[in-house]
Amino acid sequence: MRILLMGPPGAGKGTQAVVLAERLGVPHISTGDIFRANVAGGTPLGVEAKRYMDAGEYVPDSVTNNMVRDRLTHDDARNGFLLDGYPRTLAQVGELDSMLADEGTALDRVVELTADTDEVVARLLNRALEQGRADDTEDVIRRRLEVYGEQTAPLTAVYAERGLLTQVDGMGAVDEVTGRILDELGV
Ligand code: AMP
Repeated sequence: MRILLMGPPGAGKGTQAVVLAERLGVPHISTGDIFRANVAGGTPLGVEAKRYMDAGEYVPDSVTNNMVRDRLTHDDARNGFLLDGYPRTLAQVGELDSMLADEGTALDRVVELTADTDEVVARLLNRALEQGRADDTEDVIRRRLEVYGEQTAPLTAVYAERGLLTQVDGMGAVDEVTGRILDELGV
């Protein structure tokens, strides 16, 4: 299964993605995680990405697209994957389409986790206390939500038009939300 998991920052995407990937037996490919690993490792890609991440802005496509293209060629992604956090812009949708078309494949499903704005801000502030992520300060959180609304939310219409989109309520206990997603996926 080739699945894309979407949703605003704080909707629980990362948490769900880990559980779902395990259940579905596919790799969890998170662009945010790959960026954070590069930041931690001090690689040139990490140095470049950090400037944008710390401000709550998207890392430029010139960096992000190549990184995903490379990751999708790894053997473990040949028969399926769970994409988390990519694509985030309409241009990235086109890039992903062409990466998959090169392999003769396409996305099977797009799951959008929906969440209430006050709830996601509260969750992110809580995560800031627990994990100390540099991009979890209140100002940056608000900016990330704004950027999501402007640049990423419009993607759901594209995938809905293709008949791929399923919306799932992301509020509630982790297990409940996982159950809802698996139901929707028919797993
Ligand atoms: P995430 O962990 O998915 O919330 O991503 C953390 C940060 O990494 C985002 O706020 C962006 O700065 C950057 N990032 C992750 N995925 C992308 C993407 N597809 N395009 C651009 N920037 C991204």
